[in-house]
Amino acid sequence: MDFLQCPLYLPRKSRSIRVVLKPRCEKDAIEGRAGFHSALHGWFSKHGRDYPWRRTTDPYQILVSEVMLQQTQIATVLGKGYFTRFIEAFPDVAALAAAEDAPLLKAWEGLGYYRRARMLRETARAVVHLHGGRFPEEIEDLGKLPGIGPYTAGALRAFAFGKPSVLVDGNVARVIARLMDFNEPIDATSGLRQIWSWAGELADPRKPRPYHAALMELGQRICRPGVPDCLGCPVSRFCRCSAPENLPLKGRKTAITEVDEHVLWLRDRKGRVLLHQEAGARRTGLWKLPVRKESELAGFAEILKQRYGITRFRVTMRVHDGGVAAPGFQPVDGDSWKTPEEIAALALAAPFRKAVERLLHEI
Ligand code: SF4
Repeated sequence: MDFLQCPLYLPRKSRSIRVVLKPRCEKDAIEGRAGFHSALHGWFSKHGRDYPWRRTTDPYQILVSEVMLQQTQIATVLGKGYFTRFIEAFPDVAALAAAEDAPLLKAWEGLGYYRRARMLRETARAVVHLHGGRFPEEIEDLGKLPGIGPYTAGALRAFAFGKPSVLVDGNVARVIARLMDFNEPIDATSGLRQIWSWAGELADPRKPRPYHAALMELGQRICRPGVPDCLGCPVSRFCRCSAPENLPLKGRKTAITEVDEHVLWLRDRKGRVLLHQEAGARRTGLWKLPVRKESELAGFAEILKQRYGITRFRVTMRVHDGGVAAPGFQPVDGDSWKTPEEIAALALAAPFRKAVERLLHEI
């Protein structure tokens, strides 16, 4: 067993002892690039997963998948059918470019970060108006499209056009930081620049599509956050780090802020529910239960408490029962009565959809 290094891994909050076993590095991945590519391709051709966006080279479908996966897990995008439903609703770039707000938000419902959906439509409009509906293939032209950063431009170039490119997402950054035993924060400008530079040196220009898919999947399944599976790793002999559980380093820690959100559950004599359509920047056009100041709802019983997270906030939603509206009550300022059937067809932010469905069934 002398070929094994056995650094001890002690999870901070656990009493159990975990041991990361990792074969010794023979040559780093850049020095041994050909062998690294061959090991990675060999593993991926046997074990790579079959995702709908890997069965197509349509840049539009690839773009949709990339944008959906920016803040949402693959299992959620696939398991809940978001990708398939979105492509059915907007089958091509022209259909998305022409989409109205309401169906667009409805198709995105549950994925959160609704600005992504609108930005995706902006990209589609630019492709239609500036490029006659055909995606450009060069990085410079892709990068000029609204909403397309270096990662997405690289992904489109590799996955849709099969051309050499460089792309770094969170999984790839972690894998490269470990392969190169990089002990600087990868979220600092200089650290990120170094990771992109190594990503460029490591990339396989002959088989860009499977190479990038393989490296990302290696990060998702083998070189995962926390404790990686180094014994199951196809490229372990090209990996320089000896304590992978400590990498990558990150400098910035986002402070989480706890907030309470007081919302009103009010019905009319026809059984309709009072909803509010948002006009603010983050969720414009989406529907939710009306949010009020705590003092305005002080006399109403709290009937539901639900927690959810959004960006750096951990929100406790407290729903207060306003009972049945008094005769003559008139909704104002974006509030509106909706029947349960109308609510089913509207786009609601996920926490509000969950609360409304529970309350419709329980009250
Ligand atoms: S799983 Fe990650 S840390 Fe472990 S050997 Fe493979 S690349 Fe290195």
